[in-house]
Amino acid sequence: MDTKPYIQDRAAREFFSLLERGEFRTTRCRSCGEAHYPPRVVCPACLGEEMEWVDLPREGTLLAFTQQRDAVRCRRPEVLGLVELEGIGNVFTRIDAPLEELRIGMRVAFSTWTSSDGVALHQFRPPRA
Ligand SMILES: [Zn+2]
Repeated sequence: MDTKPYIQDRAAREFFSLLERGEFRTTRCRSCGEAHYPPRVVCPACLGEEMEWVDLPREGTLLAFTQQRDAVRCRRPEVLGLVELEGIGNVFTRIDAPLEELRIGMRVAFSTWTSSDGVALHQFRPPRA
């Protein structure tokens, strides 16, 4: 079974190749200045097609989390969560911590991991004490 992310467009391809280098970036519209996550080829605000790449915040706020069993790409069981990136929006992501260490509203930091099928993906984790 092919478990590689479904690459929809050149913005998504660039996003995943940036992740391979540990970079966490998205697109910002040169016309209206709006940044969006996930990265876009066309601005959803003004339909502009001139995009530039900007760094995403490498820390965010944990809004929600859960534990998933029988994931396709992840270790099992796997913790997943929704992380708010200030000024950008929310990222659905792997959380690199056990459920009992997590609290709604806590700060979490970006890192990358490589899935068993060799795909670089993002994850967030609480700061280590
Ligand atoms: Zn725009």
